[in-house]
Amino acid sequence: MLLCDFHIHTTYSDGSVELRRTIDLYGQAGFDAIAITDHVVNGDNPIGRLAHRFRYSVTRENFAAYMGHIREEAGRAWDKYRMLVIPGVEISKNHLTPDKSAHMLIIDVHDFIPACMSFEEIFVEAKRQNALTVACHPHYMSAASDRNTLFLWNNREKYARYIDAWEIANRDDVFNVISLKKYPYIANSDFHKPRHLYSWKTLLNCEKDTDSIKRCIRHNKGVALTLFRN
Ligand code: ZN
Ligand code: ZN
Repeated sequence: MLLCDFHIHTTYSDGSVELRRTIDLYGQAGFDAIAITDHVVNGDNPIGRLAHRFRYSVTRENFAAYMGHIREEAGRAWDKYRMLVIPGVEISKNHLTPDKSAHMLIIDVHDFIPACMSFEEIFVEAKRQNALTVACHPHYMSAASDRNTLFLWNNREKYARYIDAWEIANRDDVFNVISLKKYPYIANSDFHKPRHLYSWKTLLNCEKDTDSIKRCIRHNKGVALTLFRN
């Protein structure tokens, strides 16, 4: 099965490890497929604007450079490690209240998607790009009570049809509620620092190419979780 991690931040947003070193960390650890998913933060309120001021967001202006760099590193990762690297973003709608906040991975993204668009517009645009949509850390997290992102879970009746998979585990947290609803799931590290490599991961029983991986996750057959430890 393919050892995968589809939620990884670099210094393009608030990660501490530069893209090239991130690729080498995962390549040397034996991963088969990863997605680079730096934050695209909403700029329509003070918390969002703060993230932009500290350059913790990919923007419309540097999106092309971000994508170009990922594609270049993807070539190197394939040659050196036979590891597939898929470009993505984490659309981050940050609000003061957890009930309004939501983070979504857009995996195999092609064009920039602004985080201040409405949820419907974001999901429709992701579908137009045939990207995979994943609801991130959708329930209460152990560490960050002030940064919980509950909007998608609380509004799941309305939005579940747009979401290809939900994070049933994020780093060290497991969200049982996802399995109770029988939603398609994956597990990711939400990598920001080297120690985050050792956390929940996804195993996929499919071919090592982007289309097969997207299909496998959407159908949610041959998907397993593993706690990856040193
Ligand atoms: Zn997040
Ligand atoms: Zn994240």
